[in-house]
Amino acid sequence: MLSAQNLSKKYGQLQVLNDVSLEIKKGEFVAIAGPSGAGKSTLLHLLGSLDFPDRGHVKLMDKDIFKLSAKKQSAFRNEHMGFVFQFHHLLPEFTALENVCMPLWIADKNKKEVTEAATAVLKTVGLLHRMNHKPTELSGGEQQRVAIARAIVHKPSVIFADEPTGNLDTANAQAVHELFLELRALYNHTFVIVTHNEKLAAMADRTLFMKDGRIEMERLKEDIG
Ligand code: ADP
Ligand code: ADP
Repeated sequence: MLSAQNLSKKYGQLQVLNDVSLEIKKGEFVAIAGPSGAGKSTLLHLLGSLDFPDRGHVKLMDKDIFKLSAKKQSAFRNEHMGFVFQFHHLLPEFTALENVCMPLWIADKNKKEVTEAATAVLKTVGLLHRMNHKPTELSGGEQQRVAIARAIVHKPSVIFADEPTGNLDTANAQAVHELFLELRALYNHTFVIVTHNEKLAAMADRTLFMKDGRIEMERLKEDIG
């Protein structure tokens, strides 16, 4: 469903990704782990077409992403992908509901349907009672759940998350893990998550361990029981 073939990327002299290939199935939950500087974020950004490789291909649902025109690529990304980052990047002057509506407003969807869809996902993430609050009036965990709602409101096939719990305390990180599991059960999203959090990685069907720009090892959930 999502695949990479021979991805390579350099920053200056530094070979950040070195001939990485992978294959991810629909509904699979994949964690990317490994030391700082291993190339995890770079790989995630390339899979999500947020950056360009020097060489190689990424295919999502049989589309060769880097062969699309810039305009088509961005439309394809907006339709099929959702992103969650370590910091929530919510717009401070808008309420939780408005932040979640934003991707659909930008896609020029019907106002009433947008409000309904955004309200429904805010319910899923347990924040219906907070929907008219602005980000600064929410806790860190709540802010991240709003960001997750925003990432899924357009029903993407794949969700990319880069250290989604890196800025949260243990209890809030736990809540985010449970939410991811629930979302997968509800919508069968495919998840690709860069994480240092052992518990989040342990939830994954498969963990890819990166080192020096390569996938050094893979671990299946079955192997750890
Ligand atoms: P947590 O497990 O709660 O994410 P960590 O101590 O692992 O806490 O991480 C604290 C912060 O430092 C996080 O923002 C994480 O992104 C960053 N960090 C930790 N280890 C690494 C690493 N090896 N490489 C890059 N960043 C790291
Ligand atoms: P990880 O996520 O595993 O910590 P990254 O993919 O963020 O690794 O980075 C891999 C290496 O590439 C690091 O040495 C980092 O400093 C470097 N790097 C990442 N982004 C850039 C950039 N935009 N310009 C220059 N170097 C970068």
